Amino acid sequence: MTKIFKIEPSHRKIISKPTLLKALTYLDKKAFETPFLLIDTERVKEKVDIIGKNIRNSKVFYAVKANPDIEVIKFLHSLGMGFEIASEGELKLLEAIRVPADRIITSNPVKSFKFLSLAAKYGLRYFAFDSKDEVDKMKKYVPGSNVYVRLTVPNEGSEWPLSRKFGVEPDDALSLVLYAKKKGLNPVGITFHVGSQCTNMHNWSTALLKAKALWDMAGEKGIMFGMLNIGGGYPIKYTKDVVNIEPIEKVSDRLIYEKFPAGTEVFIEPGRAVVGDAGIFVCKVIGKARRGDENWLYIDVGVFNGLMESVGGIKYSYIVESSDRKRHKKQWTVTGPSCDSFDVIDKDVALPEPKVGGLILILSSGAYTISYASEFNGFSIPKTILI
Ligand SMILES: *Cc1c(COP(=O)(O)O)cnc(C)c1O
Repeated sequence: MTKIFKIEPSHRKIISKPTLLKALTYLDKKAFETPFLLIDTERVKEKVDIIGKNIRNSKVFYAVKANPDIEVIKFLHSLGMGFEIASEGELKLLEAIRVPADRIITSNPVKSFKFLSLAAKYGLRYFAFDSKDEVDKMKKYVPGSNVYVRLTVPNEGSEWPLSRKFGVEPDDALSLVLYAKKKGLNPVGITFHVGSQCTNMHNWSTALLKAKALWDMAGEKGIMFGMLNIGGGYPIKYTKDVVNIEPIEKVSDRLIYEKFPAGTEVFIEPGRAVVGDAGIFVCKVIGKARRGDENWLYIDVGVFNGLMESVGGIKYSYIVESSDRKRHKKQWTVTGPSCDSFDVIDKDVALPEPKVGGLILILSSGAYTISYASEFNGFSIPKTILI
């Protein structure tokens, strides 16, 4: 039987029409068990074609942590994508599908010993750092490698800030670069991360100017950088419009072209923007309840098995299966299936009345969902299906 979903104008602004159509067609044809994650490969390819297009001399490395599903990785590999990894587990994934070492970089400034030794064996040559101890580790495990220093940059206006855990200020960065050189490593450049889901255009320009200052300081000490790694952070639409990738790249490109030497190589490390808006969670309503004056909705994906980012403030858009013709909506507290009260996905979500047993589609859920998921309380991690 054909399923009827309440698709609203607001949804059409969030998700690309072909992706939604593909998902609906899939749901009509197949018998399935929820929950699962659909990934539209055509949408992924579209994003791969957009990212890096407007930055001269750039190379793109997909941040594997956003979605490390093997089929997703294989698909990106087939498109010739590079990869940014942080751990032995992520390296093993790439090894399994024989991604050449020269298409892999690692921008984790503090790496595990096991990862460093496996990375050396596999032949990785690009590593980030932001401390003296890391230089000592790299000298031992990956001597002579190309290394780049992580600079702290403002993360204001990004919904998932990353600035506090990593990075150093330019003065310290310079000392570290000189130390790395002394230890026989090859300092090739600078990296930063403006924060994930960064909707503030200015962050990139501010970061680039800060990197430029360090670039010149290093030059004065005889260290000629050649690589600028602008990290990730490109945003996707969840519930509202965000700045597009094209203007972010055009502004950055102009700045890089004006301020940095000709021939500067630019690395980009998008994660969320590659897979996020290609993904749709398909889940089922398992219960409803009225508690006090709140309407509670229980679905089979929650904070622990896929929607962890909701705790950090990411809000999703939901499409409800319903044949009810009424347009009336109610406010819902949307929660996952586990018995933990931390498992609340969102509050005050306006939705048409869902039916217990009916489906709910969660848009833009392709990144940082499955990769965060656990089997807490015995609820399985949703399967990923490429469509
Ligand atoms: C997570 C991460 C990325 C990807 O960030 P997005 O916001 O998903 O684009 C890139 N580089 C590094 C070092 C990261 O840790």
